[in-house]
Amino acid sequence: MSEMRILAIIPPMTQLNTPYPATAYLTGFLRSRGFDAHQADLSIALVHQLLSVAGLQALHRQVSALPRQQHTAATRSFAGQFESYCTTIAPTMRFLQGRDPTLAHRIASRRYLPEGPRFAPLEQYVDGLQHDGTPLDWAFGALGLQDHAKHIATLYLNDLADVIRDAVDPRFGFVRYAESLAASQPTFDPLHAALAAPYNLVDATLQTLTLATLAQHRPNLVLVTAPFPGNVYGAFRVAQAIKRAQPSVITALGGGYCNTELRQLDEPRVFDYFDFVTLDAGERPLLALIEHLQNKRPIDRLVRTYTRTHHYVDCREPDIAFAESGTPTYAGLPLDDYLSLLDMLNPMHRLWSDGRWNKLTVAHGCYWKQCSFCDVDLDYISRYDLATTDVLVRRIESLVRETGQTGFHFVDEAAPPKALKSLATALLQRKLDISWWGNIRFEKSFDAGLCQLLADSGCIAVTGGLEVASDRLLKLMKKGVSVEQVARVTRAFSDAGILVHAYLMYGFPTQTAQDTVDSLEYVRQLFAAGCIQSGFFHRFTCTVHSPVGKHPEHFGVTLSRPPHATFANNDVNFTDATGVDHNRYGAGLKKALFNYMHGIGLDLDVREWFEPRDAGRPPGKRQRRRASDAVPRTLVPPDLIERALA
Ligand code: SF4
Repeated sequence: MSEMRILAIIPPMTQLNTPYPATAYLTGFLRSRGFDAHQADLSIALVHQLLSVAGLQALHRQVSALPRQQHTAATRSFAGQFESYCTTIAPTMRFLQGRDPTLAHRIASRRYLPEGPRFAPLEQYVDGLQHDGTPLDWAFGALGLQDHAKHIATLYLNDLADVIRDAVDPRFGFVRYAESLAASQPTFDPLHAALAAPYNLVDATLQTLTLATLAQHRPNLVLVTAPFPGNVYGAFRVAQAIKRAQPSVITALGGGYCNTELRQLDEPRVFDYFDFVTLDAGERPLLALIEHLQNKRPIDRLVRTYTRTHHYVDCREPDIAFAESGTPTYAGLPLDDYLSLLDMLNPMHRLWSDGRWNKLTVAHGCYWKQCSFCDVDLDYISRYDLATTDVLVRRIESLVRETGQTGFHFVDEAAPPKALKSLATALLQRKLDISWWGNIRFEKSFDAGLCQLLADSGCIAVTGGLEVASDRLLKLMKKGVSVEQVARVTRAFSDAGILVHAYLMYGFPTQTAQDTVDSLEYVRQLFAAGCIQSGFFHRFTCTVHSPVGKHPEHFGVTLSRPPHATFANNDVNFTDATGVDHNRYGAGLKKALFNYMHGIGLDLDVREWFEPRDAGRPPGKRQRRRASDAVPRTLVPPDLIERALA
């Protein structure tokens, strides 16, 4: 294969508002090395096909064929308003693409779009609000017309996703598709069975799109990226379609899912779909693979690559330096097709779903690489490599020129403060006017002066891990920050006009009920003091690559190891000697946070967010409360954050 024509594909599903950046990086890199490289986003293409008039007609046929008892509220509502869906779908998609903003008036009137079960909360109260609740009109009062309409149109699309789920494929979702077939699945059997099943409407549509993309680009090497478990099924369906139609086309799989989950891959059936699976940063393995395909390198000299015949091969050549990895390019991606959605009314949350962001990294890896819940030994965290500010600025300039858009999302695991300072200074000196946001650690070098400099350079938001707001647990996690320090740093960002989102965690080893309640109290105070504006609580999961997974005894937990994994291996169940039932607290934590993000309930005792242990039982069956059933009172002084800020 002397003439290489390379096509990088984003399989469904990823994001609707912006392309997942992996193919942009690889295409930019390969072009910088002189290769004929192209890219395609089959995730957004699939959504547009399903949500077209023809797609809805096909969906209607599926709904009509359902036996009566299999109908759901979503399918009944769709069938009853089908004509209205057909007349509104194209204009609504154009509106969400930003091509027809005046349609906002009709959408916001709520007399234009058909409404299904997803609209129910609008008739009552915002889902999750406690006490008397707050009508959505209250929240909309703070929004402009465009945002109001965007939210209505997002609910309309969510209704349609529910119809696809109920009538075509129960695994369907706009951002995660058939995730359970891939996430920490020790064997390939479930995915194999799903891939052997006859095509449903979604599969058939994806196959048509795949073949059309093949015909357009005529590649002899196709790279498929699988960043998450939620697009692995799509990745294999794409590869299956390619291999059935053109078996001579070489297929390779890579991306974040492979890097974390497939490190012990020992499953020959995977190679019926992919000829190669690569691990970690793709540039060096790809160069080696291309040389191999050009007969310039034997197969046993590949880099971090699984092959059917030689299993795992790694001749350990050094990676391409971050500075040499080229400028990402979005060339070939349909940038005008992405949809700006508005799921959550919180201004920070919307950054993830609303608007198209150019994605860049300030550095490869994490400069801290110590947190005990993180994959600190894997390349994407452990290999810290920084390019000069000049290189970064050139990449920014190039992306602005190419896309005409000035919004940047720095998708680092934790962007280093020194590099951000230098970047901000350079942006200001060169009068390069961009808006940017990214992930950081809340470390003390972000003082008022630096935060103001970042804001002046266009920084609009930061995200960072506060995890469990408890100094004891932050220490056990080796997070390298304290609650009071986070309060001062986040306040400095907020004072500079930069929105702050905190990643929060519950269920960490040794975490007690008292820790959980105290953590929520800290979070309440941080919201009340205007330090943070947004957050998300996720349940701690132990990965096999993290220090907790490697040395569970240091964290007071015992792992339940699954049987030998031949396919995916990442999350691992564990038993915590503390014995706390964390399930009891999850819903209350999320409800509290949802309300705090809307500025509600900040004056309540945090215990009020948690249900009593026997809340689900009928009154006659409730048991006498034991002292251990009570949600503990917080031990955090009510003015702790205020004092830290003073
Ligand atoms: S959690 Fe974040 S800051 Fe901590 S090691 Fe991982 S990437 Fe770095």
